[in-house]
Amino acid sequence: MNKYIKPHEWKIIEEGFNPDNQESSESIFSLGNGRMGQRANFEEFYSGQSLQGSYLAGIYYPDKTKVGWWKNGYPEYFAKVLNSTNWIGIDIEIEGIKLDLNKAKIENFLRTLDMQQGILSRSFTATLENGKTVEVDVTRFLSMDDLDCGVIRYQLRPLNFSGKISFIPYLDGDVKNRDANYDEKFWNILESDSIYGEAWLLTQTKKLDFRVGYVMRWSVDVPDFEVETSYNDVKSENRIEIDCTKGKLISFDKFVTVCSSLYYDKEILLEIAGTKTLMAKQNGFEKMLENHTKCWAEIWKQSDIKIKGDIVAQQSIRFNIFQLNQTYRGDDARLNIGPKGFTGEKYGGSTYWDTEAYCLPFFLSTAPLKVSRNLLIYRYNHLSKAIENAEKLGFSNGAALYPMVTMNGEECHNEWEITFEEIHRNGAIAFAIFNYIRHSNDIQYLEDYGIEVLIAIARFWAQRVSFSNEKNKYVILGVTGPNEYENNVNNNWYTNKIAKWCLEYTLEVLNKMKLNNPLKYKYIVEKTDFNYKEETSKWNEIIENIFLPYCEKNEIFLQQEGYLDKEQILVSDIPVGQRPINQHWSWDRILRSCFIKQADVLQGIYMFENEFDTETIRKHFDFYEPRTVHESSLSPCVHAIIAARINDKDKAYSMFCRTARLDLDDFNNEVSEGLHITSMAGTWMAIVEGFGGKRVIEGELHLNPIIPKQWKEYSFIILFRGNKLEINVSQQQIEIFSHSKEDISIFVYGKKHVIKGGGKMVTTIL
Ligand code: BGC
Repeated sequence: MNKYIKPHEWKIIEEGFNPDNQESSESIFSLGNGRMGQRANFEEFYSGQSLQGSYLAGIYYPDKTKVGWWKNGYPEYFAKVLNSTNWIGIDIEIEGIKLDLNKAKIENFLRTLDMQQGILSRSFTATLENGKTVEVDVTRFLSMDDLDCGVIRYQLRPLNFSGKISFIPYLDGDVKNRDANYDEKFWNILESDSIYGEAWLLTQTKKLDFRVGYVMRWSVDVPDFEVETSYNDVKSENRIEIDCTKGKLISFDKFVTVCSSLYYDKEILLEIAGTKTLMAKQNGFEKMLENHTKCWAEIWKQSDIKIKGDIVAQQSIRFNIFQLNQTYRGDDARLNIGPKGFTGEKYGGSTYWDTEAYCLPFFLSTAPLKVSRNLLIYRYNHLSKAIENAEKLGFSNGAALYPMVTMNGEECHNEWEITFEEIHRNGAIAFAIFNYIRHSNDIQYLEDYGIEVLIAIARFWAQRVSFSNEKNKYVILGVTGPNEYENNVNNNWYTNKIAKWCLEYTLEVLNKMKLNNPLKYKYIVEKTDFNYKEETSKWNEIIENIFLPYCEKNEIFLQQEGYLDKEQILVSDIPVGQRPINQHWSWDRILRSCFIKQADVLQGIYMFENEFDTETIRKHFDFYEPRTVHESSLSPCVHAIIAARINDKDKAYSMFCRTARLDLDDFNNEVSEGLHITSMAGTWMAIVEGFGGKRVIEGELHLNPIIPKQWKEYSFIILFRGNKLEINVSQQQIEIFSHSKEDISIFVYGKKHVIKGGGKMVTTIL
């Protein structure tokens, strides 16, 4: 834990400069606009500990796999989101001495992330080694209006001298990934040049030939200055020298455009970036900022959550929502959501099951439907690769195993117990289709795309099970469930349950299609070479006979077959200094322990909640929560939702705080590596599905709100089937406003209400 962020409704605030927190703050104050993003590195030179990080959506590098012992079936590479050209740099020289916050005496340091407007700012007073003192104020944003553009305003006032100050804005392509497997650099610089007022770089990835062009321009509000231009193989810059007057503010603006070959013709990247940068400069800082903040205002209209009476919770939920919106805009089905987004290198920036299990619910309710659809299309487009992936492992007949980690559909995870065993991910992808359909009723999607994915996944499960004569049941052996603190276990309940459900759902969809759209059904049968009779009878047999480990004594489903053989101690028995256990215990000790890294049985209970009564849910929660260490960021949110479901408000609140402030208070001592972007969607779920009790059951919207005692009131927005609803929950009542033209029906505590278009309903809180 490291609590230094000051509470504020709309802002993330750091007061006073502590170099020990620099890498953590670089993560927390990150900026992004869906197309690019960066850690909150300083513009000026900084010689202290820092992870320089600037990342571009969809631009990656296949870094050759590095493992101790090669296993057949391993992917050849691990895809890495690429640390790319540092374009924010503006070095400052004051009478020949570089401004460096690691060397100068710093006072009045204030760093702010204004989440309402999407602006990062920083102010401080610095006294350099030569005794010169300057006051600095820097503002930066990545335009949400022009996604290729970033703007910086660097203001400086000499306080105790008149003399020479140089601003040196640059583009630096000499960057490395900290996590490079072989310490290699991943970029070629094809062109580097600068002229008066402008500099540019054209870069190319050493593999896959992604190209990115960068052009910068600048303006300064003083009449007289001298400019020198320079460049070398990897860096291009201008040096603007100004004779400054004591007490007089100098305002320097830098405009940069970043154009990648993902969006523009490779051959003319610099031309396009050049034109766009010129336009940005002509528009000027204020206009660019105005356009940018207008976009954020629109985003907040759809996704804000307000909490009254708990400023810390208010700040946290907005932080989570803000970071999600900075990471993914949903306008490009080639992109996805890496667990660290644009805030760090861990997890390679690639796609995990996190997207389907956590992020999708957030986007389904807070963004236009096409955003969620694009997340689904992403997997549809990877279907043939998922089939190849399964073939490599020995599966056949169009069975698909989606990768645990991917950029382009190919598996690139490098730990056998996850790559080969954490197959439950396939289930999350099928469940996402179900979730999307129950929200949207977009049957067209299901029939045009979804069904093929479902068939391929169902085929995988039908081949992955084996029949145990001993048990007279189908079993799934040698897996890792969501709980990665147990590997190579047999019959992980969650995996078996989701496998069974995938078969059931695919059958249901197929049968409906056969009935409602026979032509399309016939087409799909032919396209997938589907043998209805043979394949579905095998599926039915598995559905009826799959083993789901259960403990009669405790009346709970078991994490895995051998779970109760483990010594049953509780998290409260672990000495305080030994947590998180993954930073204190040997891996062997963790694997032998009964401690659960993240929601596993409870993940399944969450997903298939309708199959269980409240008492059953409570029993499972009471058993598993005290054994769960929540060392995956994805865990506390699920426990928060279930705690709310069984009306344990205090537990739900504490779990909510844990997920909401995971990064802001650095619960797991790792925020310096980057933020937990995907689990931030879980924080949203903890409020909307937890406290708000939002469910979609058979196409109908349900709410079962409760409110923690710490809050006076909270409100959230739900987009549902073209309608927009605003829900306010106070300690006394629930108000639901419709912002739609149409009437909408909604179930509150199981009772159906119809709200007129533009109307409202009020009911008492239970
Ligand atoms: C979790 C996985 C998750 C991954 C990326 C791991 O620590 O155990 O479930 O997919 O992080 O967030």
